[in-house]
Amino acid sequence: MSELRQDPTTREWVIIATERRRRPNEFGGDSANKKNALEKLGEYSADCPFCSGNEHFSPHEVDSFRTYGTAPNSKGWWIRVIPNKFAALSLNSEENLNAYEGIKSVNTDFTGYFFPRATEVFRTKPGIGTHEVVIDTPRHNETIPFFSDKQVQELFLMYRQRYLSLRNNSKFKYIIIFKNSGANAGTSIIHSHSQIIAAPVIPLSLRNNISQARFYYDEVGRCIFCDMIQAEIVDGRRIIMQTDDFIVFHPFASTSPFETWIMPLSHEPCFSNISMDKVKALGVIVKKILKGMYDALDDPDYNFVFNNPPIADEKEDYYHWSLRIIPRLTMKAGFEIGTGMSINTAIPEETAEFMRGFLKF
Ligand SMILES: [Zn+2]
Ligand SMILES: [Zn+2]
Repeated sequence: MSELRQDPTTREWVIIATERRRRPNEFGGDSANKKNALEKLGEYSADCPFCSGNEHFSPHEVDSFRTYGTAPNSKGWWIRVIPNKFAALSLNSEENLNAYEGIKSVNTDFTGYFFPRATEVFRTKPGIGTHEVVIDTPRHNETIPFFSDKQVQELFLMYRQRYLSLRNNSKFKYIIIFKNSGANAGTSIIHSHSQIIAAPVIPLSLRNNISQARFYYDEVGRCIFCDMIQAEIVDGRRIIMQTDDFIVFHPFASTSPFETWIMPLSHEPCFSNISMDKVKALGVIVKKILKGMYDALDDPDYNFVFNNPPIADEKEDYYHWSLRIIPRLTMKAGFEIGTGMSINTAIPEETAEFMRGFLKF
């Protein structure tokens, strides 16, 4: 029989479909074609805009870690941040902004009609924000599972540095750091990269998450995420790794197979508060988990996403940040689109046990 499970942090239900379930070892893809495909590529590709040596193909860099004395937009970097050429949001939206102000002033002209006018129903905002690309490595064929510890530490230090820089802009309400790896995860560019978007609005799913977490904090007086971590530790079956500072687990109400959450063990509302030592440790943990997935699931496409509170709430105790890794092993279908609920054909207790077998320390 299937089981409905509720995510304690969102109150969203997930269907764990035990009858349609696949065993953890049935999720690997056509490994012969895929695994090691990158190794056939060289370290450099002449037409890749992200490769070291091709800096002139990309917009002017916003930030970088590079050898002392080398100029921006030249070789010598190991992490480089550039504006997204096809930005979802940008700061150069003045025209857009003026157009919006125009609509607003028309709206204030009361007409006496009972029905709201279209401009009142269909609300818009100018697309003000930033959309940055972090080039994770100068080497075309290197992916995170095969980074040196140093390289992945520097990448996570850059995430922290960009967050701390962007949060100072009062136009931004929310910053999201994420990575799409592979065509099923939404990217066609092979060269390893991540993205950072600073947005002027707070996404609805986050608002729901916030209101649930706030409600729990007001009612119970504790952080729901801290309580969830304690419950995961007591149960133990879904934990795949634990260090002094972090816990890694497949959540009780996982929405898709091998969904993995990494959370600080001690209460921390926002990633922005993390120390440099801890962010380096986090980078190495993420690399280990991704290497485990590479081995266990034949180099799956995946997304990872930082879940943070809005910038204004980064010291509020109701929230507790996480980094979530979602391998793209299944597709969303009609039921998911129609209801927003997920059907998970894997059992988190089984996938966690399976993954533990692939983590080497
Ligand atoms: Zn490249
Ligand atoms: Zn907490």
